[in-house]
Amino acid sequence: MKRSKFTPGNYRLAVKRASAGRGLFALEPIPKEVCIIEYVGQTLRESEWLNSRNRYLFKLTEKHTINGWNKENKARFINHSCRPNCEIEIRKGRVFIMAKRAIKPAEELTYHYGKEYFDAVIKPIGCKCLKCRS
Ligand SMILES: [Zn+2]
Repeated sequence: MKRSKFTPGNYRLAVKRASAGRGLFALEPIPKEVCIIEYVGQTLRESEWLNSRNRYLFKLTEKHTINGWNKENKARFINHSCRPNCEIEIRKGRVFIMAKRAIKPAEELTYHYGKEYFDAVIKPIGCKCLKCRS
């Protein structure tokens, strides 16, 4: 069987302390443009998440959101950055984290959470990403 572009590579990753709480770090080099990990969880409808206080939600569409609060989902620890090394690709309702560029061992994985989320949630408290702190 042909390996899909969206098959996550089996890269060693670790959850560690980061500038914004916990973060997910690469433990080995990751080449550019590969799929690193899938953001996994149950897909919720609007009525199910609207009043949720869950901090680990990934908005797929206006009506559908993935509940990232489950132990298997290491991708929930990936923090926002304004100059990220990963990017999101959504494919058939599934969310994949792709390497935007080559990533070195011990680098923290980050992706841009999107303008809407940034303006509503991150901006008011101040962005803690490397770019904004330097
Ligand atoms: Zn920032």
